[in-house]
Amino acid sequence: MRIIRIALLVASALCAAVPAFSQSADTILVNGKILTVDPRFSTREGLAIRDGRITEAGSNTEIRKQAGPQTRVIDLQGRTVIPGFIDSHIHAIRAGQTFTTEVNWVGANSIAEAMSRIHEASQAKKPGSWLIVAGGWNAEQFKEKRRPTQADLVAAAPNNPVYVQLGYDWEVMTPAGFAAMGINSEADLPHPGKFERDASGNPTGAIEDGGGFDVAIALFDKLPHPTFDEQVEGEKKFFREMNRLGVTGVGDPGGNNLNPENYQPIFKVWRQHQMTVRIAYSLCGPSPGKEFDELKSLTQMLPQGFGDDMLKFNGLGERITWGMNNNDHPTAEDQEKFYEILRWAAQRGMTVTMHWPNDSSVDILLAIYERVNAEFPIKDLRWSIAHLTGATPEHLRRMKAMGVGWTIQRPEAASVENAKELGMTMGAGTDAHRVASYNPFTTLKWLLVDSKKNGAAPRGPEQTPTREDALRAYTIGSAWFSFDETKRGSLEPGKLADLAVLSKDYMTVPLDQIESIESLLTMVGGKIVYAAGPYARLESAR
Ligand SMILES: [Zn+2]
Repeated sequence: MRIIRIALLVASALCAAVPAFSQSADTILVNGKILTVDPRFSTREGLAIRDGRITEAGSNTEIRKQAGPQTRVIDLQGRTVIPGFIDSHIHAIRAGQTFTTEVNWVGANSIAEAMSRIHEASQAKKPGSWLIVAGGWNAEQFKEKRRPTQADLVAAAPNNPVYVQLGYDWEVMTPAGFAAMGINSEADLPHPGKFERDASGNPTGAIEDGGGFDVAIALFDKLPHPTFDEQVEGEKKFFREMNRLGVTGVGDPGGNNLNPENYQPIFKVWRQHQMTVRIAYSLCGPSPGKEFDELKSLTQMLPQGFGDDMLKFNGLGERITWGMNNNDHPTAEDQEKFYEILRWAAQRGMTVTMHWPNDSSVDILLAIYERVNAEFPIKDLRWSIAHLTGATPEHLRRMKAMGVGWTIQRPEAASVENAKELGMTMGAGTDAHRVASYNPFTTLKWLLVDSKKNGAAPRGPEQTPTREDALRAYTIGSAWFSFDETKRGSLEPGKLADLAVLSKDYMTVPLDQIESIESLLTMVGGKIVYAAGPYARLESAR
């Protein structure tokens, strides 16, 4: 009896001593406005983090109790903290590969600024090197509200071939660019490209793509590609750039000009443990006509969900067959081939995300989803449709009935409130980098501004989400698409400490300032991956 009592005393003495060291937080954040994005959208003053996860969200007093002598204390000085953004549809892997070798117009608000970036790049590179702006901009972002002309580009970089792409619709090149690509006449353009002509019929130096993606893809393929090492470096720099904007996770839907062999640079970054953005990637059908065989072969050693919290395989999409890619009028044969792949994917428990811009033709896609669903229910597989501008309530209802989610990117994203009413899962994102900027605050501005007032799109105030709902879609909403909503997407105990401390309060800043918000401190799994301003010294100490 006495021995037992002594043993108990020793044990309790040990217990009392141990917690002060092993149970204290690695890091605490205090004096903040923490938007937890929990189910009640609670706001807290502080967070405690240990081993990469949040251990508590609470008041300053509660959080300070979690600190020990070794704990790093970050004073938020009233700043707003959000769960790191998860962009549910961004071509991040592709964008990263060329990030250090292309010129970037994100955030340039005048033609002059865009041209000065071209000029700077021309100074940094050897005469004769290509200068490439492969999308990520639009004329509306410039105060001149126009596209650059060939003359603008020649003035900025007289000694370089220059290539500028606008979405998948239009390209402009300098004469040196046309010469370097061997395009001497309209007949040398990839089909169905045409020279843009001015009122007198003279070529302007621009190319009109004539619908579809073929011209832009073919032209881009003729441009020099960065080396493997440049691509690895580019991925890391691009992740850091996204961290600067508070992004900590993405869904990557593959994309044009990104083939299976192009994944080696990102795999290298992952092996080096240098990923600072979590990626759930899906696989596109690579070659026209061979999609099914290739997908079967590629996924033989790639089960759904394979990977880890930094990089994992998340099924098929967004281009599964070429016949059904961005095509409002697929043939019966196109549809049957697509159905066979989807049926096989459902049977194997794979997730599918599908690019479909137009609501007017989405019945074709929904009918195929429904046909598969009748044989192999897809409810637990988290299938989704990306884009779907102006979705009608009826189409949304059909998606909801199958458990299909919706990833929204564009300002015209018309029916977000209808979708909310139906209880649909929505993820937000940018669709960067070719067709849009990767800045999440640009998408948020689009979502939040009543676009009738903006004169841009057919969405009225009744379909404009609240700031709370827009943030939900961009965090916990997006997390659902990769089965991660219990791990991240909100700042709650037990979840990964992926967060951003913002430069301005997202909830109260005037709408016209939303786009100017940046992160001052970004964490992924409790690790500081980006820090600036008052927190810059924390990053050098990491
Ligand atoms: Zn797409």
